[in-house]
Amino acid sequence: MRDSVVYFDNINTTFPHPDVVSIVETALKSAMGNPSSHIHSYGIAASRIIDESRERVASFVNSRQDEIIFTSGATESNNIAIAGFLNANPKIHLAVSCIEHFSILNQAKKFGRLGRKVSFIDVDNFGRLDLSHLERVLELGPTLVSVAYANPEIGTVQDVESIGRCVHRYGAIFHCDATAAASTQSLDVEKLNIDLLTLSGHNMYGVPGTGALYINAGTKMAPLFDGGNQEFGIRPGTENIMGIAAIGKACEIVKANRIGWNEKLRKLGRQLRDEFAQNVPFIHFTGHPEQRLPGHISFWIEHIEGESLLLLLNMNNVMAASGSACSSNLKGVDEHDLVASHVLSAVGVPSDICAGSLTFSLGWYSSLDEVTRVSNLLPQIVQKLLAMSPSYSDYMKSKEALRGK
Ligand code: PMP
Repeated sequence: MRDSVVYFDNINTTFPHPDVVSIVETALKSAMGNPSSHIHSYGIAASRIIDESRERVASFVNSRQDEIIFTSGATESNNIAIAGFLNANPKIHLAVSCIEHFSILNQAKKFGRLGRKVSFIDVDNFGRLDLSHLERVLELGPTLVSVAYANPEIGTVQDVESIGRCVHRYGAIFHCDATAAASTQSLDVEKLNIDLLTLSGHNMYGVPGTGALYINAGTKMAPLFDGGNQEFGIRPGTENIMGIAAIGKACEIVKANRIGWNEKLRKLGRQLRDEFAQNVPFIHFTGHPEQRLPGHISFWIEHIEGESLLLLLNMNNVMAASGSACSSNLKGVDEHDLVASHVLSAVGVPSDICAGSLTFSLGWYSSLDEVTRVSNLLPQIVQKLLAMSPSYSDYMKSKEALRGK
């Protein structure tokens, strides 16, 4: 079944690498004890798996081992990073980019309601952070800044090094959500001036329900849960040994293969984008043309609903992701309800003519055959949908009327 399927939704979940599958199997069979039971061999074996994995994650981000905690995924890491830090540091102002994931934006909204000073930093039309806006915000006083390394919907990769440098110049703290970037970008927390870094297992060839958070030594944090002393007391609760083994292995695998995989992803991604640009009418690409995730193509098509396109693709065994419909105004995010379209809105996609965006994201196992198949299929589906589109029909009528004049 899987051979006939083209899976281009790796930005939302990647397949676990075979070596990850095998380490999970081994952990399942061998880690019988509770890692806190240091008094017997089974407990010690389980705790050893955690230690090994912590070492792998620390080496991946260039940190100390005691600066890594394991979590249930990016949502939890982001919540510990923001709420854990703000609860321990009551006077700190929070600044987040306006295209963050809801696990960040909704916290910002909540802290704002509780009376905390909160700022939303603008991005340009490519989704890159406005550094001068960031500086103006940093001038207001001690701040926790949260900016994602890359945006999953439009693929833009931030200049994290410049952002980190700027944040540290003002003595502020930098949290970076690296969920969408971890399988392709360098994550050296020292070089990038990152104080808190979010990782997600199932976005980097690990398994779902696993994550990690890097916390720079000396950063004051308050645990969100009461419980035992696991994960240095910051994330109490008996550890998910299999998930922890998986994310550690995934870090090791990505570290060893990233450069070669990126080359392939960049090449295939460029080919797919060029084919779409040539053969798909009314297409508008989103995000930055160069500063973007390799193998990530995002766009919307005039007169066509993104969801319809995805359904027809799925009927042809091609899986991709929808971005969001384009109808919200993020500027009012702290006063208005958040809706799913904040990213496209923030980068200026016109809500009156865009009816949903699409994201195609490749993985290391994607092939040229798959790219060719999708390059041929998409224009055919677009033609089918155009023939049924009332908006396209209106457009053609008005064009003919103009010609008749
Ligand atoms: N941050 C980013 C940038 C994301 O794209 C996502 C969704 N994959 C999350 C956080 C939340 O991840 P999860 O649902 O796996 O906790």
